[in-house]
Amino acid sequence: MRQPSLLDSFHFVSRGRCSRALKRSVHAFIGFAAGLLVGGASPYTLLCGIAGFLGGWFPDYDLRFRHRKLLHNVFMLVLSSYIVFYLVQEAFRRLRIGFPGEAPLYIALAFFSGWALHILLDATTKRGTYLLWPLYGKPLRIPIFRSSSFAANFVGIGLGMLLLAIWLSQNNPLEKLAVING
Ligand SMILES: [Zn+2]
Repeated sequence: MRQPSLLDSFHFVSRGRCSRALKRSVHAFIGFAAGLLVGGASPYTLLCGIAGFLGGWFPDYDLRFRHRKLLHNVFMLVLSSYIVFYLVQEAFRRLRIGFPGEAPLYIALAFFSGWALHILLDATTKRGTYLLWPLYGKPLRIPIFRSSSFAANFVGIGLGMLLLAIWLSQNNPLEKLAVING
């Protein structure tokens, strides 16, 4: 048997149950940051951030049923993003919310980004993801990280912070506050 490495002691495994390589909160954080980037400086940026957060959070709902298949494929990604687009558009219309016409598209795009980054990042772990399920029944992977590894989560947090830093460098919220107050 292989000697356990230092990284093994940092395993993020929900004990006794199905293990998740990347923590759901890490996926959601990356999605939030990606969503803000999609929203840019628009009046609906925060909604884009929330949509990205949900996109990153959602795929692991298949944890107990066909994990990494049912919600970790490109077809579900496109379908769910379209549903978000439709629902947001309907909600804005019915509630007469006066955001610019392109807002639902950008919010759906933010949701898409969070979800897409989730399944791409899962694909970098040893288990991979079933990106083309149900058409192709084998997992696809770019095995950079051991499943359940500390490193994958660490890099995930780093990626989220990088996206957030890029958004902040382009849209400084404090500067805007200063303009409003000044
Ligand atoms: Zn996942």
